[in-house]
Amino acid sequence: MSERTEQTCPFCGIVSGSIPSQRVYADERVVAFRDRNPQAPVHVLVIPRAHVRGIDEPAAEEGALLAALIHAANEIARREGIAASGYRLVWNVGPNAGQSVFHLHLHVIGGRQLDWPPG
Ligand code: AMP
Ligand code: ZN
Repeated sequence: MSERTEQTCPFCGIVSGSIPSQRVYADERVVAFRDRNPQAPVHVLVIPRAHVRGIDEPAAEEGALLAALIHAANEIARREGIAASGYRLVWNVGPNAGQSVFHLHLHVIGGRQLDWPPG
């Protein structure tokens, strides 16, 4: 499989603005936008501005990057009004988890009762 680059990666396009998105949060390291196929009333994706293939990449194992992603997710939950009712943070990794975009993204999902275990 060929490595996707900033030119071909859809989430790099969202970071640069060449692909439209409903942005809900941005800081120096990360941006966040609404998932185009929401699985719950709140479904936001938090991504690093830098292209990293997934959470299983060595580049993802950086404390400052992880802290920025988690800080953004918690801040979004507060802004979206789901901090008290609860939410789920999800990283899908590889085929069995259904990862379909190979630019690291953290799902923030909430606004309804979420099933456990997940399907
Ligand atoms: P995953 O299955 O974990 O790789 O999740 C990829 C997610 O990205 C899916 O929930 C898609 O609905 C979402 N997605 C893909 N392309 C876009 C886009 N251009 N804008 C917003 N969400 C997207
Ligand atoms: Zn990318």
